[in-house]
Amino acid sequence: MIELKGISFAYPGQAQALCDVSVRFPAGKVTTILGPNGSGKSTLMKAACRILRPSAGQVLLDGQDIGAMRQKELARCVARLGQSNQPPAVTVRDLVSYGRYPHQKAMQVLSREDERCIDEALAQVKMEALQDRMVNALSGGQQQRAYIAMALAQDTQALFLDEPTASLDISVRFEIMDLIRQLNAAGKTIVMVLHDLELALQYSDHLILLEQGRVICTGSTQELIASGMLDRVFDIRTRVIEEKGTTFFHFSKTS
Ligand code: ADP
Ligand code: MG
Repeated sequence: MIELKGISFAYPGQAQALCDVSVRFPAGKVTTILGPNGSGKSTLMKAACRILRPSAGQVLLDGQDIGAMRQKELARCVARLGQSNQPPAVTVRDLVSYGRYPHQKAMQVLSREDERCIDEALAQVKMEALQDRMVNALSGGQQQRAYIAMALAQDTQALFLDEPTASLDISVRFEIMDLIRQLNAAGKTIVMVLHDLELALQYSDHLILLEQGRVICTGSTQELIASGMLDRVFDIRTRVIEEKGTTFFHFSKTS
């Protein structure tokens, strides 16, 4: 369980990007952070992984303040994929091997255990056959799988994904979401930012809605819709459609 308590943060010379944010990312669940552009979603993810140091508040990982943890110790607990990575000119296997750094001593070569974790990560994202290809020569969906494998090789309990489906074709988006679901079913705690409301409502156990750096609402898909806050924050009308045992969502502009 990861818990943020009273987190505030401002970029230098800017208004507060996060104001007194207290939220939980339950262990073993899929949590999605929603909110308009600039509402602080990426900043919240960065604060939760200590990419940024908050000006106030604490992040607790199973009750332990991450502010006091050593870098490698923290990197053995949480892995984060940021928004829009620039694909490097390395092979898929080499990229995935970078995920092993928190488990290595300085200048160490990859151990047998490292190689085993890399093989396992490649298998989880079904990239074994592409492991010797250059990352920058792959499709967007394949690149995203390679990055997810790198994060899996880090062998953490929690995985943070900032807009993992951005700029991917719709079928590939579903494929990545299904992969995330599978990883969660295998025990991984998932925390992500999604731009696509429909995917967020379909795939999340727990949702956090932000507006201008503040938490507006948290809860399940049903709770978020019932609160009316999703509609207010995005200025839309959400309809839930039940059809043959499947739930669909329809969004329209408020007149
Ligand atoms: P989101 O991910 O929800 O789109 P961000 O967390 O990226 O929002 O940004 C929150 C606010 O902080 C925005 O007003 C944004 O302009 C500002 N911001 C984000 N990154 C930086 C930065 N590196 N320097 C200055 N301001 C930033
Ligand atoms: Mg963002």
